[in-house]
Amino acid sequence: MKALLAPLLLSLAMTATVFAAWPINDECPVDQKHARPIYRVKTADGFVAFCCTECMQKFSKSPGSYKVTKKEVVK
Ligand SMILES: [Zn+2]
Repeated sequence: MKALLAPLLLSLAMTATVFAAWPINDECPVDQKHARPIYRVKTADGFVAFCCTECMQKFSKSPGSYKVTKKEVVK
């Protein structure tokens, strides 16, 4: 019975990793439109989401010229 516990804990740890990959922002930093988590780039602060691939590419070229507004974490 105890052998079942380890895989269970492992799957919980993997779930936590998925949440950590969630974007830190709600708004596209390039044009302030609603960001979609599927368009995202990993930065030092975490994943940044964009409204479209075009904005994602613009940001990738010069990440310093766009300010990322982090969303407030509601607990
Ligand atoms: Zn955008």
